[in-house]
Amino acid sequence: MMPGQIAKFGNSAAQLLLGGLAVLRSFGNGEKDRPAVGDDSRQDILDLRDAVKQWREVFEHNPVMYFMVDRAGTVLNVNTFGAAQLGYTAAELIGQSVLDVFFEEDHDFVRRLVALSLETLHQSHTWEIRKFRKDGSVLWVRENAKAMLRGDGTPIVLVACENITQRKEAEDALRQSEAYLAQAQELSRTGSFGLNIATGAIVWSRETFRIFQCDLSVKPTLNFVVQRIHPEDRDAVSKTLDRAARRAADFDHEYRLLMPDGSVKYLHSVARAVRHGSGLIEFVGAVTDVTVAKEAEQRLRRSEAYLAEAQRLSHTSSWAWDVRRQEFAYRSAELYRLFGFDPGKIEVPARAFQQRILPEDFQRIVEVERQAVRRKEPFEVDFRIARPDGSIRRVHTEGHPIVSSDGEVTEIIGTHVDVTEQIAAKEALQRAFDELKTSEQRFRDYAETASDWFWETGPDHRITQISEHADTARAAPAGLVGLSRWDIPPDAELEPGKWEQHRAALDAHLPFRDLVYRGRDRNGSPIYVRTSGKPLHDADGHFLGYRGVSSDVTAAIRAEQAEEALRKAQAELAHVTRVTTLGELAASIAHEISQPLAAVISNADACISWLGRYPANLDAARRSVEWIVEDANRASEVIRRIRALVKKTEIEMVPLDINQVVREVIALVRRELATHAVSVRMELSSGLPKICGDRIQLQQVLINLVVNGIEAMQANVDHPRELAIRSSQAGEGGDRHLLLTVRDRGVGLGGDVTDRIFTPFFTTKSGGLGMGLSICRSIIEAHAGRLSALPNEGSGATFQIALPFPHKDTS
Ligand code: ADP
Repeated sequence: MMPGQIAKFGNSAAQLLLGGLAVLRSFGNGEKDRPAVGDDSRQDILDLRDAVKQWREVFEHNPVMYFMVDRAGTVLNVNTFGAAQLGYTAAELIGQSVLDVFFEEDHDFVRRLVALSLETLHQSHTWEIRKFRKDGSVLWVRENAKAMLRGDGTPIVLVACENITQRKEAEDALRQSEAYLAQAQELSRTGSFGLNIATGAIVWSRETFRIFQCDLSVKPTLNFVVQRIHPEDRDAVSKTLDRAARRAADFDHEYRLLMPDGSVKYLHSVARAVRHGSGLIEFVGAVTDVTVAKEAEQRLRRSEAYLAEAQRLSHTSSWAWDVRRQEFAYRSAELYRLFGFDPGKIEVPARAFQQRILPEDFQRIVEVERQAVRRKEPFEVDFRIARPDGSIRRVHTEGHPIVSSDGEVTEIIGTHVDVTEQIAAKEALQRAFDELKTSEQRFRDYAETASDWFWETGPDHRITQISEHADTARAAPAGLVGLSRWDIPPDAELEPGKWEQHRAALDAHLPFRDLVYRGRDRNGSPIYVRTSGKPLHDADGHFLGYRGVSSDVTAAIRAEQAEEALRKAQAELAHVTRVTTLGELAASIAHEISQPLAAVISNADACISWLGRYPANLDAARRSVEWIVEDANRASEVIRRIRALVKKTEIEMVPLDINQVVREVIALVRRELATHAVSVRMELSSGLPKICGDRIQLQQVLINLVVNGIEAMQANVDHPRELAIRSSQAGEGGDRHLLLTVRDRGVGLGGDVTDRIFTPFFTTKSGGLGMGLSICRSIIEAHAGRLSALPNEGSGATFQIALPFPHKDTS
């Protein structure tokens, strides 16, 4: 009981003793105060005196301290034991203030108690308080006080004190050890518990409450504990407890709590099974919150796993080398893999590792290590490992010497990086680079020896760069840099349309191909340049200009021009020969015209005479006029065809019905055929697709072939002069083509003549020019066809024209 706490004191020995004190007080303390009395009374007095003496003995030596104090707190009396307990004699205390034996800070309390006792006469009050002895040591007492009135009516307070110092000290020690324990539990995050499985009773220390986040006022239950345990661990925990309860065995387990805020706590619990006399089993144990350690462990494990993974991925292993022992102090799992060992076999000695290093490299490493230890400086060294599977790994090492407090290098820590692939990749890259360089040089050589030159223009289309090589110097005009393309050629004014179009393409930043323009080379000679370019943009899409290539195409253009000239000359020649042929046919043609004209005249005469009759025979006159119209048309048609053949027109490729072309030709040469007694047999296939060609040219070819046929049959005496003209189609699918044959029964093509007849100026005729067939062949070839000649089985020759049908979309 602490000072300030007062309790009613019940009937006790101390109260009896206090009563004894009251007797003492009534009877005085010495014989000098004895009154004169009779014998009986005398005997009574003697008895009483004996009693008092006995009680005094009890009072003085009772192991209870008795004090009698007045209202002011002055000690009126104290028993010997009481005084001795405080290290005084009674005489030393009597007359002194009782406060002298109390601590200064308790004086008020003592005064209040004395006052309270005096206010409540005959009532007992109890409290516990400290006193200090004469030697300064502390004495804890439990005091019982009661105020009473003396005979003279003055109040006194009687106090009985019991020494409770030992109990107090024990209590303090207990309290302190409990506090220490609580603190230790808090610091170690370890709570204690008691668990009676049979009754389900649970006792927790303050720290256990804290761990389980349970209010101290709440009585923990098994159900509450189960609810707190992480659902995944509940089964395991209950199994552990069941087993422990069944076997009455200690247990040690780990489980998790799922806290109301969703966080997880890791607990480690150890318990001892205590069997009570009653046979009941109780578990007493400790539960430690190992969350921090667990998380740290997990973090460590994770970071170790990351490190191992990083080492595996980067082919980097780490190690620590104990210089004195010449043995590894540490080596990562990756080091084992690098050297071809199983990482699980930790007992592999350093020597085994060393033996896998190529001997010539190992000597070097030993020397590098020696130097590093001597100089205490970091080092780098490369070496090779021969693995048992025969593969060679190339390793780059970095090492850092660790200097101990005695100034010596005791350890080297370092890394090995497997650079095999890196080196292989570097070598491959170097090879590729070398190849690229060679190929670049090759193309540079090609480019420099080509007649092309390369150029670049800026955003304003002005030339910024032009490649310089020998041929460029010859072909490309000098001083082009700074000029735009349209500043260069002299044909800009001649062909403004072309240049406007080109500039529009450049302004739209479009690529362009094969722009041909006229320019001048360095010597001022005219050249043709063909140029192509593509626009350049930077990473942000900004237009930077053009880059392209130009070439001198003068030769090609000249060739084209020559070809064109040749074509023209051929056409001219064709025309001439045509006119010549027509000249040869003049008589026949004249007849062709004069015949209808003569008919016209005679019909006109007839008409006049029919009209001159009386009455005029109008029907007959009309018939005559109709014949006149017919004949005039026939004549004018012949004239139209002759005109067309004679006229010098541009070639006009149009869809043509080849049978129609054949008929027109026959109409022209009919007289010639008749004159030479040649009959014509026409086998013209109907329904032929149209071919694409120039009517006049194809007619010219046919006239030539027919006239040649007539001439070849001139000498025919025995067999008939017959010309067969046949049209048909041959070939399949996309190869379908028209076949037109002109077959005669003339002299034929003997010996090597077949090969030579198409050669210009080859003729067997005295007045022949020898150009006809050569022109015919070039005309047919210009129509993408073929003209060939074959000797007939019997007599004569066959000339065959093969012409392609145009594709459907162009027909
Ligand atoms: P030309 O008729 O002026 O001789 P061509 O080029 O038309 O020129 O003919 C060349 C030569 O081919 C003829 O001189 C003749 O020898 C031969 N030739 C042409 N057509 C026939 C034919 N149908 N039969 C036999 N030989 C022919």
